[in-house]
Amino acid sequence: MKIDTTNAPETNLYHRLPQVGEFLNGARVRPLLERYARPVVADAARAFLAGLREEIARGTVDEEALRGSIEQMPDGVAALIEASEGNALRAVINATGVILQTNLGRAPLSERAIEAIASVARGYCNLEYDLERGERGRRGAYAEQLLLRALDRGAQDRGAQDRGAQDGAALVVNNCAAATFLALNTMAEGGEVIVSRGELVEIGGGFRVPDILRKSGARLREVGTTNRTRIEDYAAAINEDTRMILRVHRSNFEIVGFTEQPGLDELVRLGSDAGVPVFEDQGTGCMIAPEACGLGAQSSFARSVRSGAALVCASGDKLMGGPQCGLLAGEARMIRKLRDNPLYRALRVDKLTYAALEATLLAYVSGQAETLPVVRMLATPPERIRQRCEEWARALVSEKVSAEVIATESVVGGGTAPGTTLPRARGP
Ligand SMILES: *Cc1c(COP(=O)(O)O)cnc(C)c1O
Repeated sequence: MKIDTTNAPETNLYHRLPQVGEFLNGARVRPLLERYARPVVADAARAFLAGLREEIARGTVDEEALRGSIEQMPDGVAALIEASEGNALRAVINATGVILQTNLGRAPLSERAIEAIASVARGYCNLEYDLERGERGRRGAYAEQLLLRALDRGAQDRGAQDRGAQDGAALVVNNCAAATFLALNTMAEGGEVIVSRGELVEIGGGFRVPDILRKSGARLREVGTTNRTRIEDYAAAINEDTRMILRVHRSNFEIVGFTEQPGLDELVRLGSDAGVPVFEDQGTGCMIAPEACGLGAQSSFARSVRSGAALVCASGDKLMGGPQCGLLAGEARMIRKLRDNPLYRALRVDKLTYAALEATLLAYVSGQAETLPVVRMLATPPERIRQRCEEWARALVSEKVSAEVIATESVVGGGTAPGTTLPRARGP
């Protein structure tokens, strides 16, 4: 019997593909086998051949192209192995104009923070060991101290707090969402938390205040309306089940027009009269005067803590310019309860985070905030940015890529300063 294959030319092409075993025994694959284990090379060869099979099925190769590909197979297989050995996570250029881009990893770290990470990553470190006393120490104690100092809330500030014997304390967890969750669960499980309807927000990445609150075991007591909530609304909602008043910073949107919202200090006064602690999810972690870096009348972590709120939390990798973490500062007895909650164990951070956080906070404590890339970028004058853009444009044009500098405004991003834009490069 004679089989006519002229109507199925691709069938012939499939027959040209080498067997994996045949490929592995070839002379040209020997250098690869010296560098990589045989199963690794075999897997990559299989993947390479699967790619060719797909091309044949799609009809995108003819006999000659296929012969070329098979000829190149050792190089192709080597490239596949190398690609699979590289990190998926790698450096990119952020040309979005958004300084804090969650998709691009938020805050770049300072050189000092990077060195600190490298130094504790390479070997062992005194994560839970007190070198001076020569005994077991508490993880994060120094970072907490630095945070309090950076928040200008250390020992020298205590007298001014007018809060009796309650000292300030701090705690570090995995991110701001974890901080909020831990605080709500510790302070309000089984009770009510009063929140303005204008603050029942979604911050992004699935962080929704009502959902976090429910999961924490607290009951949501909504007050006011989307655009207007008065201090009387809060006052009227307080009852014996009230455990907390929650204030959430509107990090990524603004309500404009016919609006009203009591200041944090008003809430603190109400809470103190009624014996209800006030907790603010401040979010941005701004440690310096927001006006100083063109952010306008924004809320700041330091200011919120100084307002006398029982507890304030913020992200470490937004305006603070540090590693991803959630920072809590407030009354010592609150922080103690948070630390004693078994959940804290599940939300704590590792040595790398503490290393980077300490270095970041040291920059604030020692008056060197401009060594932090985020702070530096925020403070860069538009004129300097225009120069940089022009240099880029010139370089691109000289590579025959058309480029032109145009004036624009950029946002800070990362859920920090809604409605605030930074003046950026102006055109010629
Ligand atoms: C950004 C932000 C969060 C979430 O912070 P993560 O560190 O990403 O968990 C929560 N609340 C507010 C107000 C925020 O701005």
